[in-house]
Amino acid sequence: MKSLDDLEVAGRTVLVRADFNVPLADGPDGGRVITDDGRIRAALPTLTYLIDAGAKLVIVCHLGRAKGEFVPELSLLPVADRLGELLGAPVRLTSLADAPAVVAAEQPGDVVLVENIRFDARETSKVAEERQALAAELAALADIYVSDGFGVVHRNQASVTDVARLLPNAAGRLVHKEATVFGGIMSDPARPFVVVLGGSKVSDKLGVIGNLITRVDRLLIGGGMAYTFLAAMGYGVGNSLLEADQLDTVRGFMEQAKERGVELLLPVDIVIADAFAADAATEVVDADKIPDGWMGLDIGPRTRELFASRIEDAGTVVWNGPMGVFEMEPFAGGTLAVAQAMADSSALTVIGGGDSAAAVRILDVDEGKFTHISTGGGASLEFLEGKTLPGLAVLEEGA
Ligand code: ADP
Ligand code: MG
Repeated sequence: MKSLDDLEVAGRTVLVRADFNVPLADGPDGGRVITDDGRIRAALPTLTYLIDAGAKLVIVCHLGRAKGEFVPELSLLPVADRLGELLGAPVRLTSLADAPAVVAAEQPGDVVLVENIRFDARETSKVAEERQALAAELAALADIYVSDGFGVVHRNQASVTDVARLLPNAAGRLVHKEATVFGGIMSDPARPFVVVLGGSKVSDKLGVIGNLITRVDRLLIGGGMAYTFLAAMGYGVGNSLLEADQLDTVRGFMEQAKERGVELLLPVDIVIADAFAADAATEVVDADKIPDGWMGLDIGPRTRELFASRIEDAGTVVWNGPMGVFEMEPFAGGTLAVAQAMADSSALTVIGGGDSAAAVRILDVDEGKFTHISTGGGASLEFLEGKTLPGLAVLEEGA
């Protein structure tokens, strides 16, 4: 995979696939406002490098779940404005149809943003010819393709894979860093290699456990995932999250862990509540004593200490999924404890998962103390599942 440093970009037009899929809310004047511009900021190293090197930029990205037609709520207008502010230079937003003329009229150093690429149904089409037709239109706008949207590299889509085959290409700074960090973890992690998994959906993350159980030294399970494991051990879990159809799979993982000498740790105590609410009555109980009618919403204090002790002396820690319902203050302590233990550890520490990254910001843990906070939840999960990511594989074909 080539990097930006391998490219001659002065005077050339560079098509950048970015991930500007930012959260939006309704603004005061009927428009939409960006509530977290982290993804735009994450692209700045690549964009400023290319601008300073004298390239003309054409940026392509998607926003939200556009379904192949224009909808004003999913226009990139707020993104163009915010990017312009961050770059200190205007960013011209254009429809795909007008893009050839708009790009031709711009100068080196200028930035053009093509409107939400998912307004075009061919972007996500399952029919290769349709995607390739869109890719050809995009490729005709530029001389070089730079892939910098890590959040989409697990997708086989026109602006991610098909267009990369039509132009000389390279990974941008962000994709390069993500691929290097996750590639290193999967091939040769510093040991002990510890993975902390939580969040709300067991079934989404089963593939990750299945792949990692042959690689890790310790697997710490908290969050909503933990209750399916506790139930698999025969404990009552009350009204806690439970994926009853996964009990056998989970039992299989527990056996595999035992055979391989992987230390699989589950919560030993739980913060339970009588309702899914910030003002619910709460108690701390042992993990095998969740009463009927109550639900587990966080790992308890003894579990926090246990998990922290297993993180402290690790060589590598990868964390995906909050330990509790951190959005509500009474259930944020477990997530804070894991985040803080990682921040304090001298291990290589990586956060993958949108909500886990958000938790670190919301709970005010120093982001600078982590080796890497991934910008791509889905892509990083697929990396940990051991899958080939099509948007990275295509860069390795070396067009
Ligand atoms: P990530 O985005 O980091 O991969 P997920 O999307 O899998 O994480 O899960 C995040 C959600 O899991 C959070 O909204 C959090 O409130 C929820 N969660 C964590 N623990 C529990 C629990 N015990 N019960 C219900 N929801 C939980
Ligand atoms: Mg999530």
